[in-house]
Amino acid sequence: MGVTRRNFLKGGGIAAAGLAVSAKPASANVDGGELRTKGLQSSTTVCPYCAVGCGMIVHTKDGRIVNIEGDPEHPINRGSLCSKGSALFQVANNERRLTKVQYRAPGSDRWEEKPWDWAMERIAELMKDSRDRNFVKTETRDGKDYLVNRNEGMAFLGAAALDNEECYLWGKFARAMGVSYLEHQARI
Ligand code: SF4
Repeated sequence: MGVTRRNFLKGGGIAAAGLAVSAKPASANVDGGELRTKGLQSSTTVCPYCAVGCGMIVHTKDGRIVNIEGDPEHPINRGSLCSKGSALFQVANNERRLTKVQYRAPGSDRWEEKPWDWAMERIAELMKDSRDRNFVKTETRDGKDYLVNRNEGMAFLGAAALDNEECYLWGKFARAMGVSYLEHQARI
């Protein structure tokens, strides 16, 4: 038999009714199962990516992060996270993440693994050296000397991941180094 428009619509209606019946909450509990985070240790933290500062819950098992999600009780995000924050778990658990210092000496074509203490010492040494070589104590303008205490060999750049307190400390540290080229990524 050919399918008439009327038969087609009738069939569609019956199928839709069938669907509506079968779409009733079944006893197979979709929402009632055990939470996958049940029994895990949980702690709260703040997303490190940007200064919105969304709250997160981190679940750990045997000292290892197994889940990160938005904190529904946090006043800023109330449980929601943007795509970057949602992917934070992959930062903590990522075989491509570098966890050791990689150093390439001037002129070298290869990276060497170095201890963290060595890297901190090296950075401090180079900063001190640069500051000493480029420090300008006074500047003469219109025949008059002005005390400026300016380090012209260094610049500091803050990023959106810094919160208020970190920006405050970063700014203090930069000024203590005599840095006047102090900028923030959001202004560039
Ligand atoms: S990166 Fe996204 S999740 Fe993280 S603090 Fe900023 S808005 Fe929130």
